[in-house]
Amino acid sequence: MIIEIDDNSGFCHGVVTAIRKAEEALQTEGCGPLYCLGDIVHNGMEVERLASLGLITIDHEQFLQLQGKRVLLRAHGEPPVTYQQADERGISLVDATCPVVLHLQQTIKKAYLESNPEDTQIVIYGKIGHAEVNGLVGQTAGSAIVVEGPDDLSKIDFTKNVKLFSQTTKSIDGFKDIVERIKLLMSPGRTFQFNDTICRQVANRIPKIVKFVALHDLVFFVSGAKSSNGRVLFNECKNHNDNIVMISGPQEIDFALLEGVSSVGICGATSTPKWLMEQVKKAIEDYLVKQTANA
Ligand code: SF4
Repeated sequence: MIIEIDDNSGFCHGVVTAIRKAEEALQTEGCGPLYCLGDIVHNGMEVERLASLGLITIDHEQFLQLQGKRVLLRAHGEPPVTYQQADERGISLVDATCPVVLHLQQTIKKAYLESNPEDTQIVIYGKIGHAEVNGLVGQTAGSAIVVEGPDDLSKIDFTKNVKLFSQTTKSIDGFKDIVERIKLLMSPGRTFQFNDTICRQVANRIPKIVKFVALHDLVFFVSGAKSSNGRVLFNECKNHNDNIVMISGPQEIDFALLEGVSSVGICGATSTPKWLMEQVKKAIEDYLVKQTANA
């Protein structure tokens, strides 16, 4: 049986850098514990690995209780209020905000400052409550309108100008669809400015990953359930190979699926560590060895 790991799956640059910064900060002696505001990556097993090295994951409520500690901000970024709260509490930040997200935050802030709120709305195509989106909305003093899909377009007043941006991990097709719908709804004389701010680290993976999944009889897509990039990529993959299963790690493999299969593909999201995909491959190999020995 062929068992192949997709070369193009695994951490994006933003996540690699955030994890490297966490590991470096954990090795710095005499600085006390290192906290991380939210899961450093939407993958429980990588979070556990870093926890075993000393990284303590906290939520915003716990963050507000800290004084004079070190806190890492993950690749998703944070709104300005987080920096202010850190300052007030003497917290020293290890800022691992991805440069792509940082640039988007600055772009949205500039668009907000240059706009008159009376006649222009900043709209973000993204997931309501997602950490990156919260960081983006924070650039507009909370005024940006978040739309997850066509059903949310009723939140926009089309008699005003619209400046549209996208969360970095949304699908390009979904963004294009929203753009076309807004164009049709705009009132005459009003301007609609749309900015495709989708990260190509994610989008460029789609053509490669769908090619990969189409090559195999069965595919295991390894991803944490919380990863929005994981869901986008999984849905794209499913359109090209229906025999695909999402698992969070080797413990979730249903070995009965291997029956009658001659090639297995293993791929994952931008938040999936390579070592986890290798563990999945190893578990399948071990199972096959046992099956052969018992035959
Ligand atoms: S997906 Fe893109 S924007 Fe998001 S963390 Fe990775 S590199 Fe940065």
